[in-house]
Amino acid sequence: MGSRKVTSSEPLDWQGKHVTVAGLGVSGIPAAKVLHARGANVTVVNDGDDARAREQAAELEALGITVRLGDGATLPEGTELVVTAPGWKPDKPLFAAAREAGLEIWGDVELAWRLRGPDAAPWLAITGTNGKTTTTQMLASILKAAGLRTAAVGNIGVSLLDAVLGDEQYDVLAVELSSYQLHWAPSLRAHSAAVLNLAPDHLDWHGSMEAYAADKGRIYEGNRVACVYNVADKATEDLVREADVEEGCRAVGFTLGTPGPSQLGVVEGILVDRAFVEDRHKNAQELAEISDVNPPAPHNVANALAAAALARAFGVPARAVRDGLRDFTPDAHRIAHVADVDAVAYVDDSKATNTHAAEASLAAYESIVWIAGGLAKGATFDELVAKSAKRLRGVVLIGQDRALIREALARHAPEVPVVDLDRTDTGAMLAAVQEASRLAVAGDTVLLAPACASMDMFANYNKRGDAFAEAVRELGS
Ligand code: ADP
Repeated sequence: MGSRKVTSSEPLDWQGKHVTVAGLGVSGIPAAKVLHARGANVTVVNDGDDARAREQAAELEALGITVRLGDGATLPEGTELVVTAPGWKPDKPLFAAAREAGLEIWGDVELAWRLRGPDAAPWLAITGTNGKTTTTQMLASILKAAGLRTAAVGNIGVSLLDAVLGDEQYDVLAVELSSYQLHWAPSLRAHSAAVLNLAPDHLDWHGSMEAYAADKGRIYEGNRVACVYNVADKATEDLVREADVEEGCRAVGFTLGTPGPSQLGVVEGILVDRAFVEDRHKNAQELAEISDVNPPAPHNVANALAAAALARAFGVPARAVRDGLRDFTPDAHRIAHVADVDAVAYVDDSKATNTHAAEASLAAYESIVWIAGGLAKGATFDELVAKSAKRLRGVVLIGQDRALIREALARHAPEVPVVDLDRTDTGAMLAAVQEASRLAVAGDTVLLAPACASMDMFANYNKRGDAFAEAVRELGS
């Protein structure tokens, strides 16, 4: 009898296949249901065994799916394929056992990729440490402006499984992919893909910066038309160089400076394309103005250029790039202008949950009262503070790990006034905004860009941003 393991070359006949789904949750439950509906013999394993897990398990068991709670470590006997939640760490014993048995391990993205039909829409894929969601949404907006049937999918909007299996017909998908998802997506082949930037993040999961970069780099594997990289971030270009792509696929850079041939960039306030034009050594195509990008902060212009590059790789006309960028409004808490009070602008970038994001955010304003702090997740703040020091009018610190930022300020910006609010209660945000308003002078920006996660004080970054906006309203009333 031949092996019944699922392999890359095998046609997907699910009837009776023994599939282990690792993790009950947003990806595991739909994966289990879809595979069960196709005739697979599905067992879900889950570490937790709490009330919620039991409820979810009962729902799946009622369909005929086996669920094993409280043991996500042991590989069920007879497993032929493992489908995992993307967040499960690769060093789990379950995966060691699967590898030992020569089994494939698929994440949610791989599953969607493998289940999509023969006429499925191509994927334009986006990853990076920061800016993924924004860029993916910008791209979808541009594709829509070109009259294409599309959706922003991945960690946002429609789930990938729904997008590939649902009734809705698409011409092309704008797909946001995290490093975890890419790790578990060995056979994904995008039409074109972009890595926006690379800064240390999630290193405890990946094991090292090299492993993190390598997982991000998988997005370029097998690209057909363009690998889009960030000229200002050499690591992204290196990943393109290392990728194994289809014959004829091009490396296309984006830059905030004047673009060279095969690049998109900015010339005198205009976004221009020198990659997808005839005779790129002599010609450039005007795409949009910086003022068409919302908000027109430098990092966001970079996002717009990356989105434009992918859209142009798909053959979208220049006019649609402009219209799509104009139509786009960013999600809440991403450099959202809350209000002006006494000629001071109050800006909510609560989504700046790491130092790389906060650095981009701080670079967008000239004179800033910075509200920062929260859970540092192992980050260091020296580089961020050193680079931003000249823009700081003052700083207000909140949250559990604020001492780390205070110490970096003492080292690199000793002259900047710092208010250290020794508080982690929810009322602290009002106090922080009041303190910031005292430090600010007309023309300044009070910027919430915490460079930290929010969970020491708030349920999530949305709640943190809401608390900031609420405090600003109170200040103005
Ligand atoms: P992601 O989906 O990668 O988390 P988002 O689009 O949600 O990215 O943006 C998250 C935060 O990252 C924003 O609030 C902003 O502070 C920052 N950011 C956005 N784009 C960039 C970029 N290109 N470079 C650096 N930081 C960025």
